[in-house]
Amino acid sequence: MFNQFDTAITSQTGDKGLVSEAIDTLQLNLGLKCNQQCLHCHLECSPWRPEMMEWPIMEHILDAVDASQCRLIDLTGGAPELNPHFRRLIRSLKEKGCHVKVRTNLTILLETDTEDLPSFFKEHEVELVSSMPCYTDENVCAQRGAGVYRKSIEAIRRLNAEGYGIEASLPLSLVYNPGGDFLPSPQRDLENDYRLELAERFGISFTHLLTITNMPVGRFRKMLTGPGRLDAYMDLLKRSYNPATVSGLMCRRQVSIGWDGSLYDCDFNLALGLTVNHGAPDHIREFVPDTLRSRRIVTGGHCFGCTAGAGSSCGGVIVDDR
Ligand code: SF4
Ligand code: SF4
Repeated sequence: MFNQFDTAITSQTGDKGLVSEAIDTLQLNLGLKCNQQCLHCHLECSPWRPEMMEWPIMEHILDAVDASQCRLIDLTGGAPELNPHFRRLIRSLKEKGCHVKVRTNLTILLETDTEDLPSFFKEHEVELVSSMPCYTDENVCAQRGAGVYRKSIEAIRRLNAEGYGIEASLPLSLVYNPGGDFLPSPQRDLENDYRLELAERFGISFTHLLTITNMPVGRFRKMLTGPGRLDAYMDLLKRSYNPATVSGLMCRRQVSIGWDGSLYDCDFNLALGLTVNHGAPDHIREFVPDTLRSRRIVTGGHCFGCTAGAGSSCGGVIVDDR
């Protein structure tokens, strides 16, 4: 049965709904524990969340990497660094020739038992993506907590010292998301602003800025309290629907794997507990690449967050926004 989103995209997808095309990326959610508890977190992570991926699930994932020949592995959480098998997993993936991307919140790199991670990352040529929702102290701390800005700047300094954000082989991208219920400004304009401000204020560098739309899911959805606020935000996303984004939706080229091995079309469906469906296997133990590669994607009203304006994905905008 079609929902409102499926109906909106029919002109691009026909009557099959949204269907995936490939598995270029496996995104692994290593657990929901995080040293922060940001206001916009769609997974509602915090220091008290117990959910954590265990090694036997990781072994199934390593088998799935072989079976699918997928070579881009994207590690996220929570703070993925808090998983006790984090380094072992990265070493195993590198032995298979995978490119590993880690979504780090930066502040975790200042903890006593993770201080050597920048050099570990460098040794294994791990690509880094870090949330940094503004270049000002006030806006970052409003979303991510007191003291987070200062610690993030210090972490970027340490990463720059290893060559991250400076050398082409050591990318460090920053992620912006709006501080409220509005769409991001153009990605390239914001990137220029960030580059100038961060260089001028602190002499620090990064590779790219990625803008991501706030999804109407998790803590951000709960923040939209007050009469009609959630409806108004949903209206904005729907009004801003851009058909040109549909071919680049991230769910069409990746599978997301939850901490317990469940399979999802993306991290947002993971947050909503919507596993892969429509006949495709929904657990890593039953990973069948050929079926998953061309699965029908599970959609809902939240998907309008990915198709609004220039589009939004874990890699930033989907279409050029200038
Ligand atoms: S947004 Fe990222 S850093 Fe913030 S609580 Fe969620 S997982 Fe942690
Ligand atoms: S929310 Fe997930 S399933 Fe929906 S369009 Fe975005 S990436 Fe695809």
